[in-house]
Amino acid sequence: MKPYREMSKEELASLKEQLTAVYKEYQGKNLSLNMARGKPSPDQLDLSLPMLDVLNSKSDFMTADGDVRNYGVLTGIQEAKELMGGMMDAPAENVIMYGSASLTLMYDTVSRSYTHGVMGNTPWCRLDKVKFLCPVPGYDRHFAITQFFGIEMINIPLHEDGPDMDLVEQYVNNDEAVKGIWCVPLYSNPSGQCYSDEVVKRFANLKPAAKDFRIYWDNAYCVHHLYPDHPCHVLDILSECEKAGNPDMVYKFGSTAKVTFPGAGISAIATSKANIEDIKKQMNNQLISHDKINQLRHVRFFKNLDGIKAHMAKHAELLRPRFEAVDEILNRELAGLEIGQWTKPQGGYFVSFDALDGCAKAIVAKCKEAGVVMTGAGATFPYGKDPHDSNIRIAPSFPSLEDLKLAAEIFCVCVKLVSIDKLLEA
Ligand code: PMP
Repeated sequence: MKPYREMSKEELASLKEQLTAVYKEYQGKNLSLNMARGKPSPDQLDLSLPMLDVLNSKSDFMTADGDVRNYGVLTGIQEAKELMGGMMDAPAENVIMYGSASLTLMYDTVSRSYTHGVMGNTPWCRLDKVKFLCPVPGYDRHFAITQFFGIEMINIPLHEDGPDMDLVEQYVNNDEAVKGIWCVPLYSNPSGQCYSDEVVKRFANLKPAAKDFRIYWDNAYCVHHLYPDHPCHVLDILSECEKAGNPDMVYKFGSTAKVTFPGAGISAIATSKANIEDIKKQMNNQLISHDKINQLRHVRFFKNLDGIKAHMAKHAELLRPRFEAVDEILNRELAGLEIGQWTKPQGGYFVSFDALDGCAKAIVAKCKEAGVVMTGAGATFPYGKDPHDSNIRIAPSFPSLEDLKLAAEIFCVCVKLVSIDKLLEA
Protein backbone atom coordinates (compact mmCIF):
# COMPACT_ATOMS: atom_id res chain seq x y z
CA MET A 1 0.00 0.00 0.00
CA LYS A 2 1.38 3.42 -0.89
CA PRO A 3 1.40 6.37 1.53
CA TYR A 4 -2.06 7.92 1.89
CA ARG A 5 -0.79 11.37 1.01
CA GLU A 6 0.31 10.09 -2.41
CA MET A 7 -3.22 8.90 -3.18
CA SER A 8 -5.66 10.92 -5.27
CA LYS A 9 -8.86 12.22 -3.68
CA GLU A 10 -10.78 9.58 -5.65
CA GLU A 11 -8.59 6.79 -4.33
CA LEU A 12 -8.98 8.06 -0.78
CA ALA A 13 -12.75 8.38 -1.14
CA SER A 14 -13.08 4.81 -2.40
CA LEU A 15 -10.86 3.53 0.40
CA LYS A 16 -13.02 5.43 2.86
CA GLU A 17 -16.11 3.71 1.56
CA GLN A 18 -14.57 0.24 2.04
CA LEU A 19 -13.26 1.08 5.50
CA THR A 20 -16.58 2.58 6.59
CA ALA A 21 -18.26 -0.73 5.80
CA VAL A 22 -15.69 -2.56 7.93
CA TYR A 23 -16.14 -0.03 10.73
CA LYS A 24 -19.94 -0.41 10.67
CA GLU A 25 -19.57 -4.16 10.94
CA TYR A 26 -17.47 -3.72 14.09
CA GLN A 27 -20.00 -1.26 15.46
CA GLY A 28 -22.75 -3.80 14.94
CA LYS A 29 -21.02 -6.21 17.30
CA ASN A 30 -21.70 -4.02 20.37
CA LEU A 31 -18.20 -4.59 21.68
CA SER A 32 -16.86 -3.42 25.00
CA LEU A 33 -13.06 -3.41 24.86
CA ASN A 34 -10.62 -1.35 26.86
CA MET A 35 -7.06 -0.28 26.10
CA ALA A 36 -7.19 2.75 28.39
CA ARG A 37 -5.32 2.13 31.61
CA GLY A 38 -2.13 0.27 32.43
CA LYS A 39 -3.60 -2.33 34.70
CA PRO A 40 -2.18 -5.84 35.06
CA SER A 41 -4.48 -8.53 33.65
CA PRO A 42 -6.21 -11.01 35.96
CA ASP A 43 -3.71 -13.72 34.96
CA GLN A 44 -0.88 -11.43 36.09
CA LEU A 45 -2.61 -10.78 39.41
CA ASP A 46 -2.90 -14.53 39.92
CA LEU A 47 0.91 -14.72 39.93
CA SER A 48 1.01 -12.91 43.28
CA LEU A 49 -1.75 -14.87 45.02
CA PRO A 50 0.74 -17.15 46.82
CA MET A 51 1.99 -14.04 48.61
CA LEU A 52 -1.28 -14.02 50.52
CA ASP A 53 -0.37 -17.40 52.01
CA VAL A 54 3.05 -16.46 53.40
CA LEU A 55 1.54 -14.81 56.48
CA ASN A 56 -1.25 -16.34 58.51
CA SER A 57 -2.26 -16.65 62.15
CA LYS A 58 0.56 -19.17 62.74
CA SER A 59 3.30 -16.95 61.31
CA ASP A 60 6.23 -15.41 63.13
CA PHE A 61 5.73 -11.65 63.02
CA MET A 62 9.06 -10.67 64.55
CA THR A 63 11.58 -8.78 62.45
CA ALA A 64 14.85 -6.91 63.03
CA ASP A 65 12.63 -3.99 64.08
CA GLY A 66 10.35 -5.98 66.36
CA ASP A 67 6.74 -7.11 66.04
CA VAL A 68 5.14 -5.89 62.81
CA ARG A 69 1.67 -6.30 64.26
CA ASN A 70 2.06 -3.23 66.45
CA TYR A 71 2.61 0.52 66.09
CA GLY A 72 6.06 1.94 65.49
CA VAL A 73 9.01 1.92 63.07
CA LEU A 74 7.98 5.07 61.20
CA THR A 75 10.21 4.57 58.17
CA GLY A 76 9.52 0.86 57.68
CA ILE A 77 11.16 -2.41 58.64
CA GLN A 78 14.80 -2.93 57.76
CA GLU A 79 14.08 -6.05 55.67
CA ALA A 80 11.64 -4.10 53.47
CA LYS A 81 14.12 -1.24 53.06
CA GLU A 82 16.68 -3.79 51.88
CA LEU A 83 14.20 -5.36 49.45
CA MET A 84 13.07 -2.04 47.99
CA GLY A 85 16.61 -0.67 48.08
CA GLY A 86 17.66 -3.65 45.96
CA MET A 87 14.90 -2.94 43.48
CA MET A 88 15.59 0.79 43.39
CA ASP A 89 19.38 0.62 43.30
CA ALA A 90 19.87 2.34 46.66
CA PRO A 91 21.35 1.38 50.04
CA ALA A 92 18.73 0.52 52.69
CA GLU A 93 19.80 3.46 54.86
CA ASN A 94 18.70 5.80 52.07
CA VAL A 95 15.20 4.31 51.90
CA ILE A 96 11.94 5.24 53.60
CA MET A 97 9.06 2.80 53.23
CA TYR A 98 5.73 4.40 52.49
CA GLY A 99 2.15 3.21 51.99
CA SER A 100 0.45 1.09 49.39
CA ALA A 101 0.98 3.45 46.42
CA SER A 102 3.88 5.58 45.24
CA LEU A 103 1.48 8.21 43.95
CA THR A 104 0.55 9.10 47.53
CA LEU A 105 4.24 9.43 48.24
CA MET A 106 4.74 11.74 45.26
CA TYR A 107 1.67 13.75 46.21
CA ASP A 108 2.89 14.08 49.81
CA THR A 109 6.32 15.15 48.59
CA VAL A 110 4.84 17.98 46.53
CA SER A 111 2.36 18.81 49.29
CA ARG A 112 5.05 19.04 51.98
CA SER A 113 7.16 21.30 49.75
CA TYR A 114 4.09 23.45 49.13
CA THR A 115 3.02 23.91 52.74
CA HIS A 116 6.30 23.67 54.65
CA GLY A 117 9.10 24.03 52.13
CA VAL A 118 12.08 21.83 51.30
CA MET A 119 14.83 21.82 53.95
CA GLY A 120 14.06 25.23 55.40
CA ASN A 121 13.44 26.94 52.05
CA THR A 122 10.35 29.14 51.56
CA PRO A 123 7.21 27.01 51.25
CA TRP A 124 6.05 27.09 47.67
CA CYS A 125 2.62 28.39 48.71
CA ARG A 126 4.29 31.69 49.65
CA LEU A 127 5.91 32.14 46.26
CA ASP A 128 4.30 34.01 43.37
CA LYS A 129 5.23 31.34 40.89
CA VAL A 130 6.28 27.69 41.08
CA LYS A 131 7.07 25.74 37.92
CA PHE A 132 7.67 22.07 37.08
CA LEU A 133 9.21 20.69 33.93
CA CYS A 134 7.20 17.92 32.33
CA PRO A 135 8.81 15.68 29.72
CA VAL A 136 6.10 14.91 27.15
CA PRO A 137 4.36 12.70 26.40
CA GLY A 138 4.20 11.74 30.08
CA TYR A 139 2.10 10.31 32.88
CA ASP A 140 -1.25 12.03 33.41
CA ARG A 141 -1.33 11.42 37.16
CA HIS A 142 2.01 13.21 37.64
CA PHE A 143 0.58 16.19 35.83
CA ALA A 144 -2.62 15.98 37.88
CA ILE A 145 -0.64 16.37 41.13
CA THR A 146 1.22 19.48 40.02
CA GLN A 147 -1.92 20.97 38.47
CA PHE A 148 -3.81 20.41 41.74
CA PHE A 149 -1.26 22.59 43.56
CA GLY A 150 -1.46 25.33 40.93
CA ILE A 151 2.10 24.66 39.78
CA GLU A 152 2.80 25.87 36.24
CA MET A 153 3.84 23.01 34.00
CA ILE A 154 6.26 23.41 31.11
CA ASN A 155 6.44 20.85 28.31
CA ILE A 156 9.87 19.39 27.58
CA PRO A 157 10.19 17.15 24.50
CA LEU A 158 11.18 13.59 25.29
CA HIS A 159 13.71 12.20 22.81
CA GLU A 160 14.87 8.60 22.24
CA ASP A 161 17.47 8.91 25.00
CA GLY A 162 15.49 11.02 27.49
CA PRO A 163 14.27 14.59 27.91
CA ASP A 164 15.74 17.43 25.84
CA MET A 165 18.60 18.24 28.21
CA ASP A 166 19.55 21.54 26.55
CA LEU A 167 16.10 22.81 27.44
CA VAL A 168 16.15 21.23 30.92
CA GLU A 169 19.50 22.90 31.70
CA GLN A 170 18.31 26.22 30.34
CA TYR A 171 15.23 26.23 32.61
CA VAL A 172 16.69 24.65 35.75
CA ASN A 173 19.96 26.57 35.77
CA ASN A 174 18.39 29.97 35.12
CA ASP A 175 14.88 30.09 36.57
CA GLU A 176 14.51 30.05 40.34
CA ALA A 177 10.79 29.32 40.02
CA VAL A 178 11.57 25.89 38.51
CA LYS A 179 11.35 23.55 41.51
CA GLY A 180 11.04 20.13 39.97
CA ILE A 181 10.85 17.84 36.97
CA TRP A 182 8.81 14.65 36.54
CA CYS A 183 10.92 11.79 35.15
CA VAL A 184 10.13 8.15 34.39
CA PRO A 185 13.68 7.12 33.46
CA LEU A 186 13.14 3.47 32.59
CA TYR A 187 10.38 2.41 30.18
CA SER A 188 8.82 5.83 30.45
CA ASN A 189 5.04 6.14 30.51
CA PRO A 190 3.82 6.13 27.74
CA SER A 191 6.63 5.97 25.20
CA GLY A 192 8.92 3.40 26.81
CA GLN A 193 12.17 5.39 26.54
CA CYS A 194 15.16 4.58 28.71
CA TYR A 195 17.35 7.53 29.66
CA SER A 196 20.92 7.25 28.38
CA ASP A 197 23.98 7.45 30.65
CA GLU A 198 24.73 10.87 29.22
CA VAL A 199 21.27 12.15 30.07
CA VAL A 200 21.53 10.83 33.65
CA LYS A 201 24.94 12.48 34.04
CA ARG A 202 23.63 15.78 32.69
CA PHE A 203 20.78 15.58 35.21
CA ALA A 204 23.24 14.94 38.03
CA ASN A 205 25.36 17.90 36.94
CA LEU A 206 22.55 20.45 36.81
CA LYS A 207 23.30 23.72 38.59
CA PRO A 208 19.81 24.68 39.72
CA ALA A 209 18.98 28.33 40.27
CA ALA A 210 16.59 27.16 43.04
CA LYS A 211 18.17 25.59 46.13
CA ASP A 212 15.03 23.52 46.60
CA PHE A 213 14.92 22.15 43.04
CA ARG A 214 14.42 18.36 43.07
CA ILE A 215 14.28 15.71 40.36
CA TYR A 216 11.21 13.53 40.81
CA TRP A 217 12.68 10.26 39.51
CA ASP A 218 9.75 7.86 39.29
CA ASN A 219 11.16 4.37 39.00
CA ALA A 220 7.72 2.83 38.50
CA TYR A 221 9.00 0.39 35.86
CA CYS A 222 12.48 -0.43 37.20
CA VAL A 223 12.02 -4.21 37.06
CA HIS A 224 9.35 -4.36 34.36
CA HIS A 225 11.38 -5.75 31.48
CA LEU A 226 9.53 -7.45 28.61
CA TYR A 227 12.78 -9.13 27.62
CA PRO A 228 14.48 -10.00 30.93
CA ASP A 229 17.45 -11.57 29.09
CA HIS A 230 18.43 -8.16 27.74
CA PRO A 231 16.96 -5.56 30.06
CA CYS A 232 17.48 -1.83 29.62
CA HIS A 233 19.56 -0.34 32.38
CA VAL A 234 19.56 3.22 33.63
CA LEU A 235 22.49 4.64 35.54
CA ASP A 236 21.83 5.21 39.25
CA ILE A 237 20.96 8.89 39.57
CA LEU A 238 21.48 8.99 43.36
CA SER A 239 25.16 8.10 43.20
CA GLU A 240 25.67 10.25 40.09
CA CYS A 241 24.20 13.24 41.96
CA GLU A 242 26.47 12.51 44.90
CA LYS A 243 29.52 12.34 42.62
CA ALA A 244 28.51 15.63 41.02
CA GLY A 245 28.25 17.37 44.40
CA ASN A 246 24.44 17.49 44.26
CA PRO A 247 23.57 14.76 46.79
CA ASP A 248 20.18 16.19 47.77
CA MET A 249 18.87 16.94 44.28
CA VAL A 250 16.90 13.75 43.63
CA TYR A 251 13.94 11.85 45.06
CA LYS A 252 13.68 8.33 43.68
CA PHE A 253 10.23 6.74 43.89
CA GLY A 254 9.25 3.11 43.50
CA SER A 255 6.53 0.63 44.33
CA THR A 256 5.42 -2.93 43.84
CA ALA A 257 2.18 -1.72 42.23
CA LYS A 258 2.69 -3.74 39.06
CA VAL A 259 4.85 -6.34 40.73
CA THR A 260 2.24 -7.66 43.17
CA PHE A 261 -1.12 -5.90 43.60
CA PRO A 262 -1.79 -2.34 42.39
CA GLY A 263 -3.16 -0.33 45.29
CA ALA A 264 -2.12 -3.02 47.77
CA GLY A 265 1.62 -3.10 47.30
CA ILE A 266 4.43 -1.35 49.12
CA SER A 267 6.13 1.86 48.06
CA ALA A 268 9.35 3.62 48.94
CA ILE A 269 11.41 6.73 48.43
CA ALA A 270 15.20 6.56 48.09
CA THR A 271 17.10 9.78 48.64
CA SER A 272 19.97 11.44 50.53
CA LYS A 273 20.23 11.24 54.32
CA ALA A 274 19.50 14.98 54.58
CA ASN A 275 16.31 14.62 52.54
CA ILE A 276 15.30 11.63 54.65
CA GLU A 277 15.60 13.69 57.83
CA ASP A 278 13.53 16.46 56.21
CA ILE A 279 10.81 14.01 55.15
CA LYS A 280 10.72 12.34 58.58
CA LYS A 281 9.85 15.67 60.22
CA GLN A 282 6.59 15.67 58.32
CA MET A 283 5.90 11.95 58.61
CA ASN A 284 6.20 12.19 62.39
CA ASN A 285 3.10 14.35 62.33
CA GLN A 286 1.27 12.24 59.83
CA LEU A 287 1.32 8.69 61.15
CA ILE A 288 2.94 6.24 63.54
CA SER A 289 3.78 3.62 60.94
CA HIS A 290 2.68 2.34 57.57
CA ASP A 291 1.37 -1.20 57.05
CA LYS A 292 4.35 -3.26 58.24
CA ILE A 293 2.44 -6.52 57.89
CA ASN A 294 2.27 -5.91 54.15
CA GLN A 295 5.97 -4.99 54.16
CA LEU A 296 6.75 -8.31 55.83
CA ARG A 297 4.46 -10.18 53.45
CA HIS A 298 6.41 -8.80 50.49
CA VAL A 299 9.76 -9.56 52.16
CA ARG A 300 8.84 -13.18 52.95
CA PHE A 301 7.41 -13.72 49.47
CA PHE A 302 10.32 -12.31 47.47
CA LYS A 303 13.22 -12.69 49.92
CA ASN A 304 15.48 -10.48 47.76
CA LEU A 305 15.96 -8.81 44.39
CA ASP A 306 16.49 -12.17 42.68
CA GLY A 307 13.05 -13.21 43.93
CA ILE A 308 11.54 -10.06 42.40
CA LYS A 309 13.37 -10.67 39.12
CA ALA A 310 12.11 -14.25 38.88
CA HIS A 311 8.57 -13.04 39.56
CA MET A 312 8.85 -10.27 36.96
CA ALA A 313 10.00 -12.81 34.37
CA LYS A 314 6.60 -14.49 34.83
CA HIS A 315 4.84 -11.17 34.26
CA ALA A 316 6.93 -10.71 31.12
CA GLU A 317 5.76 -14.10 29.79
CA LEU A 318 2.18 -12.85 29.97
CA LEU A 319 2.81 -9.29 28.79
CA ARG A 320 5.15 -10.00 25.88
CA PRO A 321 2.58 -11.69 23.60
CA ARG A 322 0.23 -8.76 24.17
CA PHE A 323 2.82 -6.13 23.23
CA GLU A 324 3.99 -8.19 20.28
CA ALA A 325 0.41 -8.65 19.04
CA VAL A 326 -0.21 -4.90 19.09
CA ASP A 327 3.02 -4.21 17.25
CA GLU A 328 2.31 -6.92 14.70
CA ILE A 329 -1.19 -5.57 13.96
CA LEU A 330 -0.03 -1.94 13.75
CA ASN A 331 2.71 -3.04 11.38
CA ARG A 332 0.43 -5.15 9.25
CA GLU A 333 -2.26 -2.48 9.00
CA LEU A 334 -0.38 0.80 9.03
CA ALA A 335 3.25 0.32 7.95
CA GLY A 336 4.08 2.42 4.90
CA LEU A 337 0.86 4.47 4.99
CA GLU A 338 2.61 7.37 6.74
CA ILE A 339 -0.38 8.11 8.93
CA GLY A 340 1.11 7.09 12.27
CA GLN A 341 4.20 6.10 14.17
CA TRP A 342 4.45 4.04 17.30
CA THR A 343 6.99 2.86 19.84
CA LYS A 344 8.15 -0.70 20.39
CA PRO A 345 8.99 -0.63 24.09
CA GLN A 346 11.26 -3.18 25.73
CA GLY A 347 9.41 -2.88 29.03
CA GLY A 348 6.83 -0.95 30.99
CA TYR A 349 3.12 -0.88 30.26
CA PHE A 350 2.45 1.25 27.21
CA VAL A 351 2.84 1.82 23.52
CA SER A 352 2.82 5.44 22.42
CA PHE A 353 1.16 6.20 19.08
CA ASP A 354 1.54 9.44 17.15
CA ALA A 355 -1.15 10.05 14.56
CA LEU A 356 -1.17 12.80 11.93
CA ASP A 357 -1.47 16.22 13.58
CA GLY A 358 -5.02 17.07 14.57
CA CYS A 359 -6.27 13.46 14.50
CA ALA A 360 -5.84 11.99 18.00
CA LYS A 361 -9.09 13.23 19.56
CA ALA A 362 -11.11 12.12 16.54
CA ILE A 363 -9.46 8.66 16.53
CA VAL A 364 -10.16 8.11 20.24
CA ALA A 365 -13.78 9.25 19.74
CA LYS A 366 -14.21 6.96 16.74
CA CYS A 367 -12.80 4.01 18.72
CA LYS A 368 -15.27 4.73 21.51
CA GLU A 369 -18.20 4.68 19.09
CA ALA A 370 -17.09 1.19 18.07
CA GLY A 371 -16.83 0.01 21.68
CA VAL A 372 -13.07 0.45 22.20
CA VAL A 373 -12.07 2.71 25.08
CA MET A 374 -8.65 4.34 24.79
CA THR A 375 -6.88 6.75 27.17
CA GLY A 376 -8.33 10.22 26.48
CA ALA A 377 -6.39 12.05 23.77
CA GLY A 378 -4.32 14.80 25.38
CA ALA A 379 -3.99 12.93 28.70
CA THR A 380 -0.28 12.45 28.09
CA PHE A 381 0.29 16.22 28.23
CA PRO A 382 0.00 18.78 31.06
CA TYR A 383 -3.49 20.29 31.30
CA GLY A 384 -4.70 17.55 28.94
CA LYS A 385 -3.54 19.67 26.00
CA ASP A 386 -1.55 17.98 23.29
CA PRO A 387 -0.37 20.90 21.12
CA HIS A 388 -0.42 18.69 18.02
CA ASP A 389 -3.45 16.59 18.97
CA SER A 390 -1.51 13.57 17.78
CA ASN A 391 -0.45 11.37 20.74
CA ILE A 392 -2.47 8.36 21.86
CA ARG A 393 -1.46 6.02 24.67
CA ILE A 394 -2.14 2.33 24.06
CA ALA A 395 -2.30 0.08 27.14
CA PRO A 396 -2.12 -3.56 26.01
CA SER A 397 -1.81 -5.25 29.42
CA PHE A 398 -5.37 -5.71 30.66
CA PRO A 399 -7.50 -7.25 27.87
CA SER A 400 -7.26 -10.91 26.96
CA LEU A 401 -5.05 -11.56 23.94
CA GLU A 402 -8.12 -12.20 21.80
CA ASP A 403 -9.85 -8.95 22.87
CA LEU A 404 -6.64 -7.02 22.49
CA LYS A 405 -6.15 -8.17 18.89
CA LEU A 406 -9.69 -7.15 18.02
CA ALA A 407 -9.28 -3.78 19.77
CA ALA A 408 -5.99 -3.13 17.92
CA GLU A 409 -7.62 -3.97 14.58
CA ILE A 410 -10.51 -1.59 15.26
CA PHE A 411 -8.03 1.07 16.36
CA CYS A 412 -6.24 0.76 13.00
CA VAL A 413 -9.49 1.13 11.06
CA CYS A 414 -10.23 4.29 13.07
CA VAL A 415 -6.74 5.67 12.43
CA LYS A 416 -7.20 5.09 8.70
CA LEU A 417 -10.67 6.64 8.54
CA VAL A 418 -9.74 9.76 10.52
CA SER A 419 -6.51 10.20 8.54
CA ILE A 420 -8.41 9.96 5.24
CA ASP A 421 -10.84 12.65 6.44
CA LYS A 422 -7.90 14.85 7.40
CA LEU A 423 -6.24 14.40 4.01
CA LEU A 424 -9.47 14.96 2.12
CA GLU A 425 -9.98 18.18 4.09
CA ALA A 426 -6.56 19.51 3.08
N1 PMP B 1 4.23 6.08 38.24
C1 PMP B 1 4.04 5.73 36.96
C2 PMP B 1 4.96 6.25 35.91
C3 PMP B 1 2.99 4.87 36.63
O1 PMP B 1 2.80 4.54 35.35
C4 PMP B 1 2.16 4.38 37.64
C5 PMP B 1 1.03 3.43 37.36
N2 PMP B 1 0.32 3.62 36.22
C6 PMP B 1 2.37 4.79 38.96
C7 PMP B 1 3.43 5.63 39.22
C8 PMP B 1 1.46 4.37 40.05
O2 PMP B 1 2.13 3.66 41.02
P1 PMP B 1 1.45 3.36 42.42
O3 PMP B 1 0.35 2.39 42.21
O4 PMP B 1 2.55 2.85 43.25
O5 PMP B 1 0.91 4.66 42.94
